[in-house]
Amino acid sequence: MEEVIRSITDPEMLSQIERVVPFHGYLSTGVFVGIQIYNIARRSLGFSEGDRLFVTCETLSCMPDALQVLGGCTIGNKGLKIEDHGKMAATISRRAPKGAATAKGVRIVLDPAKTASYPRLHSWYMNAGLVSHEEAISDLIRAEDGVYTWEMVDVKVPEKPVKRIAVCRECGESFVLRGDEGLCRGCAERSSKNIQIDLTGG
Ligand SMILES: [Zn+2]
Repeated sequence: MEEVIRSITDPEMLSQIERVVPFHGYLSTGVFVGIQIYNIARRSLGFSEGDRLFVTCETLSCMPDALQVLGGCTIGNKGLKIEDHGKMAATISRRAPKGAATAKGVRIVLDPAKTASYPRLHSWYMNAGLVSHEEAISDLIRAEDGVYTWEMVDVKVPEKPVKRIAVCRECGESFVLRGDEGLCRGCAERSSKNIQIDLTGG
């Protein structure tokens, strides 16, 4: 992998790799895709490092880690949302202007019609053969933006309901209400499972 990384001449990307690898554990192809997606978003939206960003990742694997480190979008600061469609795609947006209902964003996808020109990368993408991360990432380095498709999108700003807390009548623990439910989500799940077990048990 060191040889592959040595072929990268962009000092910015080298510094990004240096920051992402300790967080994720190693340089995987999915992490590298995340780095490239972040850089396309930065150019399309014109944000600077440190600006508040929001990301929706359409996969749980690898890619979110690059966006957490580079974009500062984490699960805890609500900058990162996962909608696991099993896709190598992400939507990145900036903070909306005050009072606006939508924010300017961009959805970027690793496009199979374009990876087809890079047989090793394509084979990795389609899980059609044994391809090492070194081979797939070498193709991504050569392809640069050429294997991605992106479009500008309006991202709806989520409403911020007032937080209401209740104490669960089953377990006695406090939880954040979604409606007027009396059971916390944990107990509600357990009781619905019990009902299923009762039904199958006759
Ligand atoms: Zn409970």
